[in-house]
Amino acid sequence: MTKTFCNKCGKELKYSDHRKVELTVRPYTTYGGRFNLDYCESCFKEFIGEEEYNAMIQREAEHKKRVEERKKEKELAQ
Ligand SMILES: [Zn+2]
Repeated sequence: MTKTFCNKCGKELKYSDHRKVELTVRPYTTYGGRFNLDYCESCFKEFIGEEEYNAMIQREAEHKKRVEERKKEKELAQ
C-alpha cells in the first residue's frame, strides 16, 4: 500500500483523515491548471474556509442520513 501525505503540512494521511481535492485553476493553459491534491482534515478545512467546510459537513451528514433511511426502508419492505 502506498502512503499518502498531506500536500500542505506533510502529515501521513489515513483513510479517515484524508480529503482528496480535484482542483481546476482558471485561466489555465494546456500545460496545467488541474491538480489532484490530498489534504488532512484540518488543512482541508483551512483550504476551503470554515463556511464552506461546515456546509459540506452538513451535506455529508444529510446524505448519510438519507442513505440510512433508505436502508431501513429496504429492510422493512422485505
Ligand atoms: Zn495537513
